[in-house]
Amino acid sequence: MTKHSITSRKLWKLGINDFNTQYFDFNKEGDLIIKEGHNIYNVRYLAEKFGTPLEILMPFAIEERLEDFLDLATALSKKVGFKGKFFYHYPMKVNQSKEVVMSVVGESAHLETSSYNELWMIKKMLEQETFNPNIRILCSGPKTDKYINLIDDLQHKGVKIFPLIEGPNELKFLQYSKYDVGIRLDVPVKTNSRWNKPIDRFGFSAKEILKMSSFKNLKILHYHIGSQIERLSDILVPIKYALDVYFKLKEKNPSLDTLDIGGGMPIPYMRTKGYPVNKIMEKIFRLIKKESEKRGVPHPNIVCEWGRYIVAPAQITVFKVIDTKAITHKASPAKKWYVIDGSFMNDLLDTWAIEQKWAMSSVNNKRDGNLNEVWLAGSSCDSDDIYKGKNGVVTLPDYNSNNGDTEPMYLVVYDTGAYQDSLAAKHCMLSSPMKVVVENGHIVVARKRESPDDVGKNFGW
Ligand SMILES: *Cc1c(COP(=O)(O)O)cnc(C)c1O
Repeated sequence: MTKHSITSRKLWKLGINDFNTQYFDFNKEGDLIIKEGHNIYNVRYLAEKFGTPLEILMPFAIEERLEDFLDLATALSKKVGFKGKFFYHYPMKVNQSKEVVMSVVGESAHLETSSYNELWMIKKMLEQETFNPNIRILCSGPKTDKYINLIDDLQHKGVKIFPLIEGPNELKFLQYSKYDVGIRLDVPVKTNSRWNKPIDRFGFSAKEILKMSSFKNLKILHYHIGSQIERLSDILVPIKYALDVYFKLKEKNPSLDTLDIGGGMPIPYMRTKGYPVNKIMEKIFRLIKKESEKRGVPHPNIVCEWGRYIVAPAQITVFKVIDTKAITHKASPAKKWYVIDGSFMNDLLDTWAIEQKWAMSSVNNKRDGNLNEVWLAGSSCDSDDIYKGKNGVVTLPDYNSNNGDTEPMYLVVYDTGAYQDSLAAKHCMLSSPMKVVVENGHIVVARKRESPDDVGKNFGW
């Protein structure tokens, strides 16, 4: 490694398990590489071969991560003496790519859907006998007639599918269903998650749930407090609240045997240490065991729907810097714009929607002895299509498109595997990034680069 590559490796905290960057490094030439065991993928070569913007999906990263997570859950429940079962359900809305869903199911994950269309994809996989028929499916989200009918259809066929009741109309249909159902609790605990709203529209309050007459087959009490929950207590306090409701509800509904704690485990996007997953998991098992034993009730089964945590680190997005422009305004902490050939607003939409921050580095790294504080501008013509980093600047190697630098400069954004693809937009009729999947030494194109006509079809051209 050159001296410069060592600087970059440190600056961007590559090669560190705690930050999910164990797969990344720079080679002797200063190019970013992805390491899958003995298979090495050179990100600069991929960018040159396929063009940019380019998404690179690494299913092996999902598989390893989920396997580790499930092993951890098994080991901890043994250690703690937790007697319930532990079910991991992958929430499809986090990333519906077939490669992602196949990877998690291959590691024996169960699934959770948020819509009719997601459930339709599962139905197709079941019909083709691609999925294990014992897979368990939870259905959340508001239920349209189509969604309810599809759930009903699959229940008749013997699929283990559990609709989670979210509102009064669903309750009417499902309270006396002869199949198993769950109900969603609105947990009024304030956390510092961006998604935790003071007034939530999902589910029922504890008071409402406890007033309901007995269900025919109530199995699951579910809640979801929010995503990217960064404080440990914000995960534990809602569990305690929900457990209290669970025990009361079980008195009237003895079939109830599962507590679903939803999603929320965070990703260290900014490469600062949070709490380790083994610590939080152990606390969850201990808490549930203790509270159940206090009341002399069997330990409930646990459902966990941590989505972002499993898939975000398995994708990166590569852009090319197509121009640089000086920022002459005195008050600006950054001195230069780097204009990229993709769009934050379209393809990393959370940058715009929730001011998401990202870990970034250069891909080809010969010049990083000379770091620069810059801002990034996307290729749409929107003044909001920019990214200014966490503390008002992004630190990247210096680059001058207009004098001297002949080799193009590529940038990579890490941890783009959660939510960004399905939120993506078509502002300015820009094409989506091409997507390649790297696994077992092979590189497969999962989404071709869209032509103008492909994009135009969305608009009737
Ligand atoms: C979005 C969502 C999840 C996943 O949340 P993450 O923060 O990605 O873990 C899980 N369950 C439900 C009901 C959701 O709506």
